[in-house]
Amino acid sequence: MKDVLCPRCGIRMEFMAEAEVSGSNKKVRYFYRCPACGTRISESEMTIEKKDGYVSIKVLQ
Ligand SMILES: [Zn+2]
Repeated sequence: MKDVLCPRCGIRMEFMAEAEVSGSNKKVRYFYRCPACGTRISESEMTIEKKDGYVSIKVLQ
């Protein structure tokens, strides 16, 4: 994993994931967060969609 430094504090940021469910869709966001000041840098976003028994995964960046 690469090190991402906070643009404000210059310390190493934590890699985190956050999931959000709405109906049959699930959205997962990956981001870096600074433990000191809370600045967030978005890494990528993924949508998991269940439809007629199929699961489709879309990655948005
Ligand atoms: Zn910071």
